[in-house]
Amino acid sequence: MKHNFGAGPCILPAKVLDQAADAVRNFNGLGLSILEISHRTPEFEAVMKETQDLVRELLRVPEGYSILFLQGGASTQFSMLAMNFLHQEKKAAYLDCGYFSQKAIKEALLFGQVNIVASSKDKGYNYIPLGYEIPEDSAYFHYTSNNTIEGTEMFSFPPTTVPVICDMSSDIFSRMVNVADFDLIYAGAQKNMGPAGMTLVVVKDTLLEHIQRQVPSMSDYRIYRDNGSLFNTPPVFSIYVAMLNLRWLKEKGGVKTIETENIAKAALLYEEIDRNPLFYGLADPDHRSRMNVTFKMYEPAMEQEFLDFASTRGIVGVKGYRSVGGFRASLYNALPISSVEILVSCMSDFEKEKLNKEVELAQNESL
Ligand SMILES: *Cc1c(COP(=O)(O)O)cnc(C)c1O
Repeated sequence: MKHNFGAGPCILPAKVLDQAADAVRNFNGLGLSILEISHRTPEFEAVMKETQDLVRELLRVPEGYSILFLQGGASTQFSMLAMNFLHQEKKAAYLDCGYFSQKAIKEALLFGQVNIVASSKDKGYNYIPLGYEIPEDSAYFHYTSNNTIEGTEMFSFPPTTVPVICDMSSDIFSRMVNVADFDLIYAGAQKNMGPAGMTLVVVKDTLLEHIQRQVPSMSDYRIYRDNGSLFNTPPVFSIYVAMLNLRWLKEKGGVKTIETENIAKAALLYEEIDRNPLFYGLADPDHRSRMNVTFKMYEPAMEQEFLDFASTRGIVGVKGYRSVGGFRASLYNALPISSVEILVSCMSDFEKEKLNKEVELAQNESL
């Protein structure tokens, strides 16, 4: 059995994989695969509707918001949102809190001016900046709620009167947020929602009244809204598996229930990182992500040995991002707490093994 701590595409519940596999062979008893049915069939329209309804219900999306399914990943949103909402007279405000914020800023600069209201670059993005001003005349304010690579997460969102756009790719559905505080939320599916290939956008309809630039159809949020995300062929299979996964989440009790589990999972792992003398956490304790836990060893030379040790216990996907190094354990919704317990006991067993070796060495020397 594998314990999949991968950052994305991420672990999905076994039940969802079984159901998806069945639908690949024979979808809804139609004698056709989900991979080969038209997106214009009543059967697929029902999938679209149920997926939208589940998003609405699980996130408690209020009236006046549309739920869209797009392609191109969260990375396409970096430019698409700026193309739609950044215009010449105004600057967009961005919070620079990590690798993906920087990518979003780079793309926005193609369409207008960007005002970086605060950055945590000075400390390698190991914290979330606090106490900055967001100019009232900004076109919008953009931030990343969870920094997948650095392992930091925002637990409070700055109040502002300007439209708020948030990249929630790696913590959507992991905790309750008040959707009414946001004007546009986007998330690539492959962290906490389903397989890669679909991007969720939850957008306030009034925001779409402010598009001034001529936008190509495939980059125009209004086209997706007006066509029920069926302007062209949507990512049928990704949407279907996301639906299965959101059904699973609903059956489990919804976002509030999973949030409690996620808090317990993260607490367990951070406790071990803080206790174990071989390891240390990378993120500022006040801003530690519950989804992506980043840590290193005091002796970098030992890290490969630990990875090998962990893999003998079925632990996969814990190697840190290439620019950060060390380890990253992603604790997305489908990862059971039992997997975190395995990782924690693996860390403490590794520590014991090292201590025993030291004792042995000392004894040999004294002989
Ligand atoms: C993974 C990730 C992205 C990029 O997502 P793609 O779907 O691969 O484009 C963007 N932002 C955040 C926060 C992410 O975790």
